[in-house]
Amino acid sequence: MNNVSLSKSRYCKAVQCNKMLWMDINKKEEAIDKTNEGVLENGTKVGELARGYFGEFTNINYDKDLSKMTLETEKTLESGANIITEASFNYNNNFCSVDILKNDVDGLEIYEVKSSTEIKDIYLDDVSYQVYILKNLGYNVKKANIMYINNKYIRKGNLDLKQLFTIKNVTDIADSKQDEIKEKISEINEYMKADSEPEEKISMKCFEPYPCSYFEYCTRNLPEKNVFNLTKIHKKQKIDLYNKGIYSYEDLLNEKLGWKYHQQVEVDLNNKIVINKENIKEFMKNFTYPLYFLDFETYMPPIPEYDNSWPFEQIPFQYSLHYIEKEGGKLKHKEYLAEAGIDPRREVAERLVKDIPKDVCVVAYNKMFEQGRIKELANQFEDLSEHLLNIHDNIVDLMIPFSKRWYYTKEMEGSHSIKYVLPALFPNDPELDYHKLPVVHNGAEAMSIFANLKNYSKEEQEKIRKGLLKYCELDTYAMVKIWEKLNEVIKE
Ligand code: SF4
Repeated sequence: MNNVSLSKSRYCKAVQCNKMLWMDINKKEEAIDKTNEGVLENGTKVGELARGYFGEFTNINYDKDLSKMTLETEKTLESGANIITEASFNYNNNFCSVDILKNDVDGLEIYEVKSSTEIKDIYLDDVSYQVYILKNLGYNVKKANIMYINNKYIRKGNLDLKQLFTIKNVTDIADSKQDEIKEKISEINEYMKADSEPEEKISMKCFEPYPCSYFEYCTRNLPEKNVFNLTKIHKKQKIDLYNKGIYSYEDLLNEKLGWKYHQQVEVDLNNKIVINKENIKEFMKNFTYPLYFLDFETYMPPIPEYDNSWPFEQIPFQYSLHYIEKEGGKLKHKEYLAEAGIDPRREVAERLVKDIPKDVCVVAYNKMFEQGRIKELANQFEDLSEHLLNIHDNIVDLMIPFSKRWYYTKEMEGSHSIKYVLPALFPNDPELDYHKLPVVHNGAEAMSIFANLKNYSKEEQEKIRKGLLKYCELDTYAMVKIWEKLNEVIKE
């Protein structure tokens, strides 16, 4: 039997869990895709940009027939090209494409590019696997490196790739892992021979370094509500409980967990509703007219696009504002959505101070987020700073009654996120259903679609912009409805 065909990503999957790779090869249909499109797009953008780090380069184009890529690589190396991107090699059915290969007279340097601001252990496995292939093919690998994003870089003028990327020499680590790689490859080949599905214990590897797409499949025999549905509890603690045979909510009743977890379990089992009217009543005194319900959408480009911005900065590009000027007053709405491809921060700041007067009650859900963005804008635009900080200081957090569990139902499933709280308070209300929105249904989608907006046709952009506006509007409308609901509750 031939060795299984491995690639960098297949090898890394097996490092996380052999069964993950076995499932990919034999039962792929059971996977629940957990990839975040935005993260993938960021990886591609960063990878392409990094190619120019050393100047001119020769790229080995992708070909379904990988042997064409390895042949092309050989020729390019022979031609003496110094910088080769996607240089491809195959040793004994172990294939890899090196992100950037520096072909010096005295040997090769490998650069593995990551759109991350820190080095994870799995990156070391990735590079070491490439070193293993090249060394076994007889190449002299003099250096192995990881090239990742420097989060201290603040863009001034043109992008400075030397500042944007940090290079870490990991040659010693990669060299020290060579025996381990050899053993792991033969272990993978042994494992993949299994015709019937191998058993694999649930453990931290199911969550780290990446959440496994087969988790639902591997835990399909657990009760519908089980220890892994507990929220705000560390994964390690869940695994400990699981290892002790504590699976169901009934089993969990006798465990010494924090009060929030007991509440989650008890409320679920007994179908109770928790409402602490006194605390909610006291909390509602914080809301005074006029009321402004504010929600931002942001995106986080890994490569700073504008002057004075940094990698993965949360750039606000949109907000929705519902407001009620006086008791019994009409609910009004304002909104802002930036044009694609411009730095929206100044405009957002200007519009905010125009739309929200000083000394009014501003309502946000999870105010840390809105306050964080407003503070950044205040730091950046001194002339607007006083007004922005006034808005910042007057924000009331509508999330409090839910995060403190003064109001809790089983449908919230241990979460105080608005995406759980809203349907729990207003079940079957199509007007408040994020799934019924036409284009954008959650923050991650908004982030990713806006980051790529300029790449769509004019017509598509129009459709997307409408979708973004509808999505953000629902966020603040939902806040109004939740606030109304809390008012009803204290009157009952
Ligand atoms: S859920 Fe866990 S055991 Fe199952 S394949 Fe994934 S990592 Fe392996």
